[in-house]
Amino acid sequence: MVWEQRWHPLRREWVIISSHRNERPWQGERVAEAERSLPPYVPDCYLCPGNARSSGRRNERYSGVYVFDNDHPCVGAEAPSPLAAPAPMYRNSPATGCARVVCYTPRHDLTLAQLPESEVLGLLQALQAQYRELGAQPGVRHVLVFENKGEVVGVSNPHPHCQIYATNFVFTTIELEAEAQAAYLAEHGRPLFQDVLGAEEADGRRLLVRRDRALSFIPYFARYPYETYVAPRETRASLAHLTPAELGDFAAVLRETLIRLDNLWRMSFPYVMVLHQSPTDRALPGFHFHIEIHPPLRKPGLLKYLAGPEIGGGNFLNDTAPEEKAAELQAVSNVHYTNGGEGRRDEAAAR
Ligand SMILES: [Zn+2]
Repeated sequence: MVWEQRWHPLRREWVIISSHRNERPWQGERVAEAERSLPPYVPDCYLCPGNARSSGRRNERYSGVYVFDNDHPCVGAEAPSPLAAPAPMYRNSPATGCARVVCYTPRHDLTLAQLPESEVLGLLQALQAQYRELGAQPGVRHVLVFENKGEVVGVSNPHPHCQIYATNFVFTTIELEAEAQAAYLAEHGRPLFQDVLGAEEADGRRLLVRRDRALSFIPYFARYPYETYVAPRETRASLAHLTPAELGDFAAVLRETLIRLDNLWRMSFPYVMVLHQSPTDRALPGFHFHIEIHPPLRKPGLLKYLAGPEIGGGNFLNDTAPEEKAAELQAVSNVHYTNGGEGRRDEAAAR
């Protein structure tokens, strides 16, 4: 049982951890678990190889990672410009930039957690190239890479893919982290994230997967149940700054972390996964690239709602203890359950 406030050093805000409330009666919405077997190819999937998309464009008959410009971009070269000026106190700006879609594999029926390590590595290499290419475009200040996974986060097409937004502004979360890390470095002479990694290693209870050059853990200050960070040990500004050896370990750690999440409930684990990469328009001392995985579920079929504290107040209330959630993920197999791995051994007891 944990009942306390914990400081989130990257966001410089409080998180309320109150795991004693977790077993309170629940009569709200349960989301159905859409666990069904999928075919490897779906004729009307707009992401499968060779298929037509809604724009009329056709996917290549790709065999590995496939990147294309989003047909319905939220930022793009065709965004209207110049714009009508709003009232003097308001501001606007053309929504220029570039939005892309990255298919992980031609296989419609697999997820990132089910890909062999070599293909996870191939995906990360493709994302390195995207960061370099898009980050070098004039006007681009940041490259946001994210995967929304699962119907509960609004994804109707299960074909494994992520998205890239290359924008003329830096997303607020990244700005916030960049400021926190620069301030910490100036004050302490060490990167903030190195001290986070040091604290997590020294404690050990929240560590999930470790290799020589990368590790994953549920941070002390986690805002979501099962919120997981994947990070290189060395402070690197972006995925593209990792050496080949670091990228290899990073791919292994990411893959095993996702396998453990899937094995927890023996279901495809929904999440929002975001690469926290340095803005591309300037060097930011102390910025430590990492991936954050934000799961929307507290239990199978049970959503964590963002409500008064989060939407209204801007601070998170996490009614699970990071130490307990990490212990659950440590207890499952590192082999995917669809590949013969075991789920949690106390599965019956947990229900
Ligand atoms: Zn597909």
